[in-house]
Amino acid sequence: MELQLNEKVVVITGGAKGIGAAIARGCAQECGIPVIVDQDGEAGKQLQTELHSSGKACGLLVVDLLDAENCAEAVDRTMQEFGRIDALVNNAGVNDRVGLENGSPAEYVSSLQRNLLHYYNMTHYALPALKKSHGAIVNIGSKTALTGQGGTSGYASSKGAILALTREWAVELLPYEIRVNAVVPAEVMTPLYENWLGTFPNPEEKRRLIVSKIPLGKRMTTASEIASTVLFLLSAQAAHTTGQILIVDGGYVHLDRALT
Ligand code: NAP
Repeated sequence: MELQLNEKVVVITGGAKGIGAAIARGCAQECGIPVIVDQDGEAGKQLQTELHSSGKACGLLVVDLLDAENCAEAVDRTMQEFGRIDALVNNAGVNDRVGLENGSPAEYVSSLQRNLLHYYNMTHYALPALKKSHGAIVNIGSKTALTGQGGTSGYASSKGAILALTREWAVELLPYEIRVNAVVPAEVMTPLYENWLGTFPNPEEKRRLIVSKIPLGKRMTTASEIASTVLFLLSAQAAHTTGQILIVDGGYVHLDRALT
């Protein structure tokens, strides 16, 4: 199956590491042009160099997405450099564990800023370009929106809102033929996940426990498996798919109750 991403400019927030980096690599492999928008300049530069050295195009914008003005700047600079935006992947986020007891009203608002507001801001500023290209948006969610996790109100509620916005934007953007879908990961080994595991007294034991409960293959999902689903949704092969929420998790969220 040809994904036909040829020369398509794909803006990926949090594209320097983890799932975002896998999306950037996959996009480049499919001959698209990933534009990495990330605050980690070093990791971003490394990935850009890797792609350039294999003859692939790749943009890099080092910005902190927390500030709405930085989101506007990321879009403006992409337009200056590449002249178009064909797709937006809202991916940056952090499970920052701002809960009811381990948090405060102010920290809750900060968590929404880290996990939710830039999804709106990036989409808002990229919209004129996406209207011209009849582009596509993929929002990265999290299983925590569906299952809860405990102790992470800010992150879980941001991820819930992201699923609602996916449907909302899919409806609002129908007249422009802009498709909007969400991909929901559960357990993917990335720098973010490693940090989270590190909060447990015995991270390896915790990892083994989680993996033992993943129905399909008793293994974690790889970042490139998430990326493949994202790239399919961005491609012409998904031209009639919008407003959908794809849970790529080896059955972790939905199938475990069927098993003993
Ligand atoms: P990751 O390993 O931390 O990579 C995310 C990248 O985004 C990092 O380079 C990070 O920079 C950057 N970033 C975060 N906040 C930013 C901001 N405000 N401005 C600019 N850059 C920012 O994370 P990941 O595990 O790949 O997660 C990607 C997405 O998948 C997130 O939305 C996450 O919620 C979701 N997800 C992941 C899992 C999983 O198992 N990994 C499960 C469910 C959902 P720094 O490192 O400098 O912060």
